[in-house]
Amino acid sequence: MKALDDLTFDNRFARLGDGFSTHVLPEPIDAPRLVVASSAAMALLDLDPAVAQTPVFAELFGGHKLWAEAEPRAMVYSGHQFGSYNPQLGDGRGLLLGEVYNAAGEHWDLHLKGAGQTPYSRMGDGRAVLRSSIREFLASEALHALGIPSSRALCVIGSDTPVWREKQERAAMVLRLAPSHIRFGHFEYFYYTQKTELHQQLAEHVLKLHFPECQEQPEPYLAMFREIVERNAELIAKWQAYGFCHGVMNTDNMSILGITFDFGPFAFLDDFDAHFICNHSDHEGRYSFSNQVPIGQWNLSALAQALTPYISVEALRETLGLYLPLYQAHYLDLMRRRLGLTTAEDDDQKLVERLLQLMQNSGVDYTLFFRRLGDEPAVLAVAQLRDDFVDRAGFDAWADEYKARVEREGNASETQRRERMHAVNPLYILRNYLAQNAITAAESGDYSEVHRLHEVLSKPFEEQAGMEQYAQRPPDWGKHLEISCSS
Ligand code: AMP
Ligand code: MG
Repeated sequence: MKALDDLTFDNRFARLGDGFSTHVLPEPIDAPRLVVASSAAMALLDLDPAVAQTPVFAELFGGHKLWAEAEPRAMVYSGHQFGSYNPQLGDGRGLLLGEVYNAAGEHWDLHLKGAGQTPYSRMGDGRAVLRSSIREFLASEALHALGIPSSRALCVIGSDTPVWREKQERAAMVLRLAPSHIRFGHFEYFYYTQKTELHQQLAEHVLKLHFPECQEQPEPYLAMFREIVERNAELIAKWQAYGFCHGVMNTDNMSILGITFDFGPFAFLDDFDAHFICNHSDHEGRYSFSNQVPIGQWNLSALAQALTPYISVEALRETLGLYLPLYQAHYLDLMRRRLGLTTAEDDDQKLVERLLQLMQNSGVDYTLFFRRLGDEPAVLAVAQLRDDFVDRAGFDAWADEYKARVEREGNASETQRRERMHAVNPLYILRNYLAQNAITAAESGDYSEVHRLHEVLSKPFEEQAGMEQYAQRPPDWGKHLEISCSS
């Protein structure tokens, strides 16, 4: 277990030089205080969880102090936003403080979001509000606990510093951890600006540090692209299977590692709704829940374009062609498990689709349905769930097929079935209204609800005593919350 002073830095990205990032010091926030820390994320740095309670912790992650070995940099990148190319983006309010390696030899980027203005801030103030920082913290840690790859969050530091959004709010900082902060948009930036040497340097850096096994392949860059396609197909299959809507799948928000990255107006589905749009400025529904699947491919094509200096167009096209079948295979596998099925049959896809259509028509809670389906033997469970559906005849027809399908699985014991299903069907998810309750309390200085919610969501598959209120459908006020896109 380490103290804060014992962190060891190895700033590999900073060493790439000034063509990739600009040195910027964090701009401190007033009266920094710990809102919440994740001991699981601290463990990634071998940090003793007790250090989160020391004043120096809030000073470090509130921008007041810096390790001598840190080299804070704002990274430059570009990207496609809502389908249009934006030639100049970059860290407008976040800084890569440095790369820390742990006892296991893993490197983790320390990225401080809300650290003040940078050369890439454009008209922005360089700040993040408490509300969005808490949302990012809770979501990163909750996704990780669900088994969905994500950047992690070490802590949120609150402050007295006022910031203006739709109304006056308070600034906060969130310390994000990821093995890399390189986005699709990094490759796009060097490709479209025709900075050939830097582009090459970036590609070598990513290959060597993040895809070392691809170096052994006959065509290393093609192998790397293939790996990125595979990881994204799997990531998006998990989003779809668990009802996570990212909301801003611009290519500058897509991690080269295939992890969930850059949290904005994201949401988990309450009622199942394939057309759900969580981002209120997404008027066309480009990033609606079901569109995440084709958008994943669109984004990979944008990355492919930026890799044309290294890989033939035919090979890129062929590799892109793997995305959809891979996605479908992962998705179907996850949905089979969610239904408690351990074998594969040809009609399983249809069984899933019909269920989702019924859920859509009746506005059935996506998370609780699967959890309750595993609570009891199939025959009993469907009899209990029937009342949630408006189209009872439709549900009965589906349930008959499901029961027959479960029968053909052979005879797992009641306990085996429940354990297997509960291990993949969470009881607790980060519902928007739960996040909102925690934020409202935190805005008035009470962080206990953030702590409780973080704690509950860190074991989403385990029923926790006294936590029934976190496993409910939202109340009416919490169903269609407008989550502000300003953050
Ligand atoms: P996002 O929508 O959060 O992914 O941000 C898109 C771009 O806008 C990125 O380059 C951000 O760094 C930048 N940005 C977002 N909010 C701010 C802000 N308050 N101040 C400066 N830059 C910002
Ligand atoms: Mg972003």
